[in-house]
This record gives sequence, C-alpha cells and structure tokens, in this order.
Amino acid sequence: MIRKTFCEGFAAGLLGLGAISVSGAAELRGIHLSTSADSAQVTLDLSEGATHKLFTLDHPDRVVIDLPQTHLASEVRVPAASGIVTDVRLGTQPDGTLRVVVQLKSPLPAHSAWAPGEEGHQLVLSLGEPAQAPQVPPKTVRALHAPGEGARDVIIAVDAGHGGVDPGAIGQGGTREKDVTLAIARALAERINAEPGMRAMLTRDRDEFLVLRDRIARARAARADMFISVHADSIADRSVTGASVYVLSVHGASSEAARWLAERENTADLVGGVRADDQDALEPVLIDAAQNEIIGVSASAAERVVSALEGVGEIRKAQVQRAGFVVLKSRSIPSMLIETAYISNPAEERRLRSAREQARLAEAIAGGVRSYFMLNPPDGTRFKQERRSTLASAADASSAAATP
Ligand SMILES: [Zn+2]
Repeated sequence: MIRKTFCEGFAAGLLGLGAISVSGAAELRGIHLSTSADSAQVTLDLSEGATHKLFTLDHPDRVVIDLPQTHLASEVRVPAASGIVTDVRLGTQPDGTLRVVVQLKSPLPAHSAWAPGEEGHQLVLSLGEPAQAPQVPPKTVRALHAPGEGARDVIIAVDAGHGGVDPGAIGQGGTREKDVTLAIARALAERINAEPGMRAMLTRDRDEFLVLRDRIARARAARADMFISVHADSIADRSVTGASVYVLSVHGASSEAARWLAERENTADLVGGVRADDQDALEPVLIDAAQNEIIGVSASAAERVVSALEGVGEIRKAQVQRAGFVVLKSRSIPSMLIETAYISNPAEERRLRSAREQARLAEAIAGGVRSYFMLNPPDGTRFKQERRSTLASAADASSAAATP
C-alpha cells in the first residue's frame, strides 16, 4: 500500500525538475549506506541530476526511489544490510526507470536532497529524524594566537552564500555569486584569524551545496558568537551599486526591495531540491523575547559593519536593512547577511572578482565586527578579560588622581 508520503516525495521530484536540467540518460555509479539503530543515510552517486520519485511502502516497510531514464553502471556494488536497514535492492522497470528499494526494520520518515558529488551529483536519502549535528564536522581555522589563560576566542561563523548546484546570481561577465562569496568568506576568515582574541569558522570551504538550516547548524556546532552570511546582490537595473547589511525582520521587511531580496535568497534550498515542507521560508518567523534580543544584538553589530563598509566603497543603504531571511533565523546566534556589492553592475562585478577588493571588503567587515565585540565582549572571552583589565586600570588611575 502506498502511504500518503507519496505526494511529498513526488513534490521533491518536481522541485528537482525545476532546478536541475534533465539531459538524456543518467548513470547510477555508486550506492553508499550509513546506519545507526534508528536512522540511515543512503547516498546515490549519479552522473547527473534528474527528476526522482520518493515514496514508502509497508508490509514490509520500504522506502523507494524511482530514477527515470537511469541505467546502472556495471561496477556498482549494493551495500549489505546494516542497522535499521534489512535489505537494499535495485531493479530496472520496463520503461527504463531504475528503482532503488531500501527495506527497513520499522517505518521512518524519509527526505531526499541533491548535493554536488565529486563527479556528477549525489542524491542523499535521509531516513529518520534529521541529525542535530552536521555529518561533516565544520572546518575551524585555527587562530594565529593562542587564547589567553582561561579565556576563549570570540568565534565568528563566516558563511559563503550559495554553492554547488546553486550558483546564486550571475553577472553579465559570467561571474557566479557562489564563487565570489567563497573568495570573500575565505579572505574574511583569514582577516579574523589575524586578530588576537578572534577565530573564524567557515560553513563551507569548497563549492558545496548546503541547505540554509545546515549553515546555521554548522555555526552552532562550532559554538559561534556571531554568524555572517556573505552574498552579492543582483538587480535588473545595471546602474545600481553599493553594499547593504541585513538582519532578520521583526515586523515585515524594511522595504519592498528588501522583502523581494529575502524571497530570492530563500529560494536557495529549492534550487538544491529540498522538499517544500522543509522550507522555513514558508513558516512565519516566531518572535519571542529571546529572538527579539538576538535581533537587537545583530542590529547593533550590523551597524558597526555598515559604517566600516562606508570606508571602502559605496553603501547602498546607510541603515541596517531588515527582511525575513531564513539563514538569519538562528534563535541563539546573532546573525547578519551582507550583500557586498551588485554583481549585476559591470564595475562592481569586476571589483568582486579582484582579490584586492575582496581583501578590502574582508578588512572592513572584520573591523566592524571587532569593534562591536570590543564594546560588547561575550563572557569568558579574551575580549571580556581585556575590557575588565582596561576598566580596572582606568578606575585605578582615577582613584589615584583623586587621592590628595
Ligand atoms: Zn545571494
């Protein structure tokens, strides 16, 4: 019997269709299985992305993926039963559809998403509740300076927008947003790591597709004190230039343009074939006192970054902008999204490609973030320790002056 999850799985297939070009027959080149007592992940290596159907069957419990117009490479070895997975089978249907059947000890929720593979594409089938921690540990770049005794570094999560199957905006000269965001993010991480008391982690350090909530999860796993998502804007009017800095909105977007931009950035997950019901974008932002406080902190840090960016180039908006970006929805980490420049403007597209300009942007952003943390150091950090000793010596000096 086909359960109602059929429809959801089919929706995932349709999203995949919108995002990934279907060009003739694909080839299944490998299957990998990793399992635990209550979850499993099946990864299919394919020569190209294509539409797929995901559905479940019971008696016995099975999850089925149908890959139309896909043939099986001769070297593929089917993984043995393991953990909650009791069997994996492959079969070709008369119409050329390759069917992958994963049999389970008990029913599990199933999700699928496309990701770029080493060669071709990977279709990742996740069975069971999504893991809290990311499968791949985030890369943490070590600071040049060891933390002071008993005090830790302020950790900044630097998130290069887009990646993998999602190129982001594309300039007239062919520059892809995902490439310049990665270059600027790396420059920013380098700049932060050169700063005593600060350390950067990159949510991605290669051309990789990440769903928006995984970007936040990686920052959380690294215990980040701040999350900075790096982007480049695009608009039909090619004369528009300048940087803008955004935080999550409390009551709607600060402008129609900001709302439209957030909607566009939020479609990144759809490009990667993520199921529509996984989209936080479709859920209203639930604002409570804690989230309000995080947004307030985000906004004051973002103000520092706006004024630092004013020093290196044109600012599109002198105020911090607000809109409903999914990637800024962390309830525990102050977050901002920086549209560094307009990739749609030919001069700014050239700037975004230049290593010198990338370094200047990185320098400004790092400076803005540093000045925020100097004034508002989190507990237990070297910044906090230094601020306390600065205040103490200032107090000593004033009491000494008052002594007759
Ligand atoms: Zn973007």
